[in-house]
Amino acid sequence: MRTKEEYRESIKAMRPNIYMGGEVLGRDNIPGVDIMDLTFDFAHAPEYQHLTTATSHLTGETINRFCHIHQSPEDLLAKQEMTRVEARMVGGCIARCMGIDAMNALSVITYNCDEARGTEYHQRFLEFLRGWQERDVVGCCAQSDVKGHRLRRPSEQADPDLYLRVIEKKKDGIVVRGAKAHNSFAPLAEEIIAIPTRFLRPGEEDWAVAFAVPGDHPGVKLVCRGASFRDRVPELAGPFSGKGEIESLTIFDDVFVPWERVFLCGEAEFGGQLALLFSLFHRHSYTGCKPALSDIIMGTAALVAEYSGIEKEDHVRSKLAQLITVAELVYGCGIAASVKSTHMPCGTQVPDIVFCNVARKHAGVNVYHEYDILADIAGGLPATLPYDTEFVSPEVGGLVKKYLARADGVSPEDIYRCFAWVSDYAVSSMAGVLQYAGIHGGGSPVMEDIAILGTYNIQEKKELAKRIAGIEKIDLEGQ
Ligand SMILES: Cc1cc2nc3c(=O)[nH]c(=O)nc-3n(C[C@H](O)[C@H](O)[C@H](O)COP(=O)(O)OP(=O)(O)OC[C@H]3O[C@@H](n4cnc5c(N)ncnc54)[C@H](O)[C@@H]3O)c2cc1C
Repeated sequence: MRTKEEYRESIKAMRPNIYMGGEVLGRDNIPGVDIMDLTFDFAHAPEYQHLTTATSHLTGETINRFCHIHQSPEDLLAKQEMTRVEARMVGGCIARCMGIDAMNALSVITYNCDEARGTEYHQRFLEFLRGWQERDVVGCCAQSDVKGHRLRRPSEQADPDLYLRVIEKKKDGIVVRGAKAHNSFAPLAEEIIAIPTRFLRPGEEDWAVAFAVPGDHPGVKLVCRGASFRDRVPELAGPFSGKGEIESLTIFDDVFVPWERVFLCGEAEFGGQLALLFSLFHRHSYTGCKPALSDIIMGTAALVAEYSGIEKEDHVRSKLAQLITVAELVYGCGIAASVKSTHMPCGTQVPDIVFCNVARKHAGVNVYHEYDILADIAGGLPATLPYDTEFVSPEVGGLVKKYLARADGVSPEDIYRCFAWVSDYAVSSMAGVLQYAGIHGGGSPVMEDIAILGTYNIQEKKELAKRIAGIEKIDLEGQ
């Protein structure tokens, strides 16, 4: 397993292909790198290794769990708990799940496609995975196509490149063209895994493509924007002050991909299955990170209530109970999804569809409600808090401290730090991204309904109702 220093050296050596703020940047100091650091540190920390490391099913070596293909319900449970623990520590998204969620989905679909079509993707994938585990790779997933007119299929768009597609097949590889939107942390990824967004029909084979390329591969352009927590003067800074995250519009400008990195090419039916399966693994990851974000919101709300002297008020306690309910229901469904998971013929453990989607749905519909509760309990100060520079100012600092006073015995510095953190978490560019990620990350909310309704046995419930209503006879004796 690598150290964070080795990881940083590796990305520093990559070709500058990050287009942001009018410059073309390398990877010396990309927002979010501290988050990736933590995924390496925790794999080396003995107290966390039962969660953060796994045994490779290919080599028997101990690897970072972010490089692992889940082999059992225990693996899924450990991944979920690791995600919650690590996301809590970084105050948000843990950033390294997208790539490995895509790898888990590929492990299943390459196998299934080979079984059905006689293709040779799975061995190729296993070779790639072996290298991934040996190199302890950081990956990201480029799934969301830019999609153009939302009601038109890939083949019906005015410009066929609005969904990533194969434009040429060569002896030694393929050439792809298109763009993937909203790629979280792509500039920090050594490998980009590209997979389809949606179900594909016969005739849409060119869009049924999955592959991996290095993040700085020729023709790959990362057009980025970032968000960050506000920076603070050193005496008031928290561990993540000034730190942030980054999103990419990832453009594949006629990119050559050698065959050994192509994991699907033209099998439309399996392209759709791959899209769904990545979303499933990713929604399972959400059952770890979303409760972590709720943990942060509820801890912050409770602290603010204490500092404001209102912690024992009934309405505050009731709202804290609501936050706990959201966090633990999502987490509990993630546990259920692991316990009720399925062992696939290829050996990969796949979480339960209904429990994953119910969890993701419940998390999504509550995102703004959780922020609503935090805003209610915190009052207006996070939106109007004087800057840290004035808090430490020799001229007005004393007055700012005097007028920030709240509960007895809490220092002005702690009150300031607390409200500055609420401001970071709820009234900042980071807050906006976290809220949007809470709604759309892993797919729009309607996709969860589709997954739930497509899997759930409603017919069985109708039959139950018929029996209870007396429309059909219940044989109580025989039951
Ligand atoms: C912060 C953030 C991080 C993300 N990270 C990643 C990432 O790392 N990798 C990645 O691949 N993706 C990522 N995503 C993308 C995410 O999966 C998409 O945002 C999501 O799938 C929605 O797609 P969209 O943004 O194009 O919205 P749209 O698809 O435009 O959705 C907007 C609305 O249009 C509706 N709609 C869309 N199509 C149809 C249709 N055919 N019929 C009827 N209604 C329709 C939707 O239901 C929704 O209500 C991220 C998103 C966010 C916000």
